[in-house]
Amino acid sequence: MRELILVRYGEIGLKGENRPHFEHRLAANLRRALEDLPDARVERGYGRLFVDPACRTDEALARLRRVFGVVGLHPSVETPLETEAILDAALRLVRGERRPARFKVEARRSNKAFPLDSIELNRKVGAHLLEHLDGLSVDLRHPEVRLRLEIRERHAYLYVRDVPGPGGLPVGVASPALLLLSGGIDSPVAGWYTMKRGVPLSAVHFQSPPFTSPRALQKVQDLCDVLAAWGGPVRLHTVPFTRIQTAIRKHVPPELGITVMRRMMFRIAERLAARDGLAALVTGESLGQVASQTLESLAAINDVVRLPVLRPLIGLDKSEIIDRAQAIGTYAISIRPYEDCCTLFVPAHPATHPDRLQAEAAEAALAVQALVGEAVAGTEVEERRAPGDARLPSR
Ligand code: ATP
Ligand code: MG
Repeated sequence: MRELILVRYGEIGLKGENRPHFEHRLAANLRRALEDLPDARVERGYGRLFVDPACRTDEALARLRRVFGVVGLHPSVETPLETEAILDAALRLVRGERRPARFKVEARRSNKAFPLDSIELNRKVGAHLLEHLDGLSVDLRHPEVRLRLEIRERHAYLYVRDVPGPGGLPVGVASPALLLLSGGIDSPVAGWYTMKRGVPLSAVHFQSPPFTSPRALQKVQDLCDVLAAWGGPVRLHTVPFTRIQTAIRKHVPPELGITVMRRMMFRIAERLAARDGLAALVTGESLGQVASQTLESLAAINDVVRLPVLRPLIGLDKSEIIDRAQAIGTYAISIRPYEDCCTLFVPAHPATHPDRLQAEAAEAALAVQALVGEAVAGTEVEERRAPGDARLPSR
C-alpha cells in the first residue's frame, strides 16, 4: 500500500491527438512545482497523473493546487488488485473521517478483468464499512463522506478528499505573451487569467524616475514573483519612460495625454515582444472603468500595434477583480501606496472619445520613433522566479 496524490485534469483530456503533448506538459509543470521536495515523484497513467509526495502530502498539495490544468487533487491509497487489500484500505480511509457520518461508495472499474463490477464493489465495500465502524449509515443522495474507488490496470486507488485545482490548461501549451504590468490591482489579475489558458508570461513595466519611486518597481518585481509561483519564471522588462512622459506633458494637449501615453506604451511593448518572439500583448483594461477605457479609447490606443491585445478582465466588475486578486495573492502587494507613472500625469479632463486622427495630430509634435527606439534601448531585463519557500495563500 502506498499513499499517492491522484491528479485529475479536465479539458486537456479532450484534446485528441494533442493529448500526450498536454499530459507531458502538465507532468513537467507538476515536477517543477515540487522540484525542491527531493523525493517527490510524478508518474503518468492513462487519463491520470500520480504524484508520490514521499510523505510531504500537505506541502505537495499546497503547491500542486496552483498548477494550471489541475482540476482536482485526491490524496489516495494505492492497493494491489485484491479484494482484501481494498477493503482494508477503505476501512482505514473512512475511519479517518468524522463520525457518525452518512456515506456513499462510488466505484469505477476501468480494468474489466477485475472480478467484481462497480455495483458489486459498492455493495461489498459498503457492507464491510457498516460491519466494522459504528455510527455509519448509507446515504446515496447527500452523503457526508464519499469514498471513491478506481480499479485501474495494475492497482486500485481509494480516496475521500477532493482538493480543487485552478483548472485551465498547463502553462507552456500556448505561445508566450507580454503583460503590461502597472503595479495596480488589475494587470496582475489579467496576467493570471492569461497564464490560466496555458500562456507563459513575460512582463513590461514603464517607470518614470524620479517621479516614481524605486518602491514602485519593487512592487512590480514582487507581483512578478507571485505570478511566477503560478505559471513559472517571468521575464520582467523595465522601460525608462520619463523622457516620453515629459515630452507628452510639454507638447500634447492635456486631454489627449493619456491616449498618447498609452499609444507609446503599446509601440514599445510591441517592439519588445518582437525581440523575444512573444505572440500577444496583455493588459488589465476593463471596459468603462476609467476615461481611457471606453471602446473609442481602446480603439485609438490599439491602432498603433498589429499584435493581438488580450484583455482578460473585459467582462469583470471591479469587485470581482479584487476578489480574484485576493485569492491569487497579488492584492496586498497591489495596494501598497506607491504611485505609478500614470497616476502622476492624469489630466483633470481626459478625452473619453479620442479618435485616431486626433491622436495622430497630437503626436506630430513628438519624435515618436526616436523616443520609442531610445526607450527600447534603455530597457532592462531580469528574470523573476517564485521564492522557493515563501508559500502563498491558497485559493
Ligand atoms: P491597473 O490596476 O492594472 O493599473 P487600471 O485600472 O489602473 O489598471 P490604467 O491605469 O488605465 O488602468 O491602465 C490600464 C492598463 O495599462 C493596465 O492594466 C496595464 O496593463 C497598463 N499599464 C498602465 N500603466 C502601466 C505601467 N506603468 N507599466 C506597464 N503597464 C501599464
Ligand atoms: Mg493603473
